[in-house]
Amino acid sequence: MILIMLGAPGTGKGTVAGILSKELGIVSVSSGDIFRKAISDKTELGKEVEKYLASGALVPDELTIKVIEARLLEPDLEKGVILDGFPRTTHQAEELEKFLKDNGKSITKVINLVTPKEEIVERIVNRRICSNQNCKTVFNMKLNPPKVEGICDKCGGELIQRKDDKEEVINSRLDTYYTETAPIEKFYEEKGLLYSTQISEKINRLADKVAKDVVELLK
Ligand SMILES: [Zn+2]
Repeated sequence: MILIMLGAPGTGKGTVAGILSKELGIVSVSSGDIFRKAISDKTELGKEVEKYLASGALVPDELTIKVIEARLLEPDLEKGVILDGFPRTTHQAEELEKFLKDNGKSITKVINLVTPKEEIVERIVNRRICSNQNCKTVFNMKLNPPKVEGICDKCGGELIQRKDDKEEVINSRLDTYYTETAPIEKFYEEKGLLYSTQISEKINRLADKVAKDVVELLK
């Protein structure tokens, strides 16, 4: 079983992927996880990835594709995988499709999580993170505020807002995401693989419910 997770930053994609991974007994991996593993395994591709990341550059499309494809052939993913954060371009989607076909596999479903933009912005703007690097607990000033304002419940560390979590930054990240992802959605929709579903506090449809529906859908 091969699942692809699509969804803007702040939709709770990681949470849904985590639940699905447990329910379905398959591994969930993000492109970041795959890069880190290739680097720590010291594979040839991993060494190349490391060069780009060390210089702060984006890993090029072709290299990303190769690293992900190599990862997909590893034995722990034989039973299935949930891919989070890949493909990011239609070129990557096309290459992935070719690769899977060559290996006698195919995508089972593409899960596209949809949350109204204003709700994502509100969620991220209210996010605070413990500045203690060993803790990094995440709070939300509205949904799960700390007992004492500005202080971490777990370790007493100072809570901070990440630079990326400011409203202007989020808006531009979301716009980039929507522009980049629209063609991928269309690509999978035309193949009948896309399952778009709302995930939103406003309608009380949270990660556990969404994951449950996905599991039903796959039966
Ligand atoms: Zn803390």
